[in-house]
Amino acid sequence: MDLKKIKEFTILNSPALEKYILETSAYPNEHEQLKEIRDATLEKYKHMSIMNASADEAQFLSMLLKLMNAKNTLEIGVFTGYSLLTTALALPEDGKVIAVDPDMEAYKVGLPAIKKAGVEHKIEFVEGNAMPFLNDLISKGKEGTFDFAFVDADKENYINYHEPLLKLVKVGGVIAFDNTLWFGSVALADDDEKFKNDPIMGYIKKHGHEAIKKLNSFLASDPRIESSLLSIGDGVTLCRRKY
Ligand code: SAH
Ligand code: CA
Repeated sequence: MDLKKIKEFTILNSPALEKYILETSAYPNEHEQLKEIRDATLEKYKHMSIMNASADEAQFLSMLLKLMNAKNTLEIGVFTGYSLLTTALALPEDGKVIAVDPDMEAYKVGLPAIKKAGVEHKIEFVEGNAMPFLNDLISKGKEGTFDFAFVDADKENYINYHEPLLKLVKVGGVIAFDNTLWFGSVALADDDEKFKNDPIMGYIKKHGHEAIKKLNSFLASDPRIESSLLSIGDGVTLCRRKY
């Protein structure tokens, strides 16, 4: 599988434009330890390192958290910690991000950089699955206590995470679902040649394609939220809890 080719299917449909955005705007301002995580991830996970949020998307998330004055946040799906370190750096000194992922080995790849960046005290990493973790927070009385949640784990379950997250995030708070354009596949007809001809697109169709399409339609019609599907990175949908 040539995962570089996948860039041809991303939202911008232009590897050149993506390169321009990253090199002109994002990389010159990327935090040193974020770059360290990006490099360490590439080294260990090769093409799978594309699972890390892109630098331009991460900078957008960082700005959003600061504009919102976010203090307590959640992260579902950590991998090597690129978006997690981005969040921890954006939060105030007494802020906290609680993050969950069953893959401790991947987290350990980014941990030295997180420690070096001096923000480990703002992070609580929980090794486990998202659903029991979210239910546990609810049973511990944490409803309405979070400003923001970043959802970036198994795409099939996004729609299931939405319900507990709507309880955990306060009114006016934001749930951000990542990869909601699913490498551009959401716009392709089910019988599109690309799914047949390209093994990567075949994989994408099999894993998460239907679920993301359902989620996008669901979020657009959910009266409890105001939503905005942004074409940054691989698409990120912001959902502001209305009531
Ligand atoms: N947010 C990260 C990338 C996450 S990649 C970044 O931008 O840098 C997706 C992660 O979701 C993987 O590490 C995977 O282990 C995790 N994941 C998959 N299923 C999960 C589940 N049920 N609960 C929690 N995390 C899950
Ligand atoms: Ca992602």
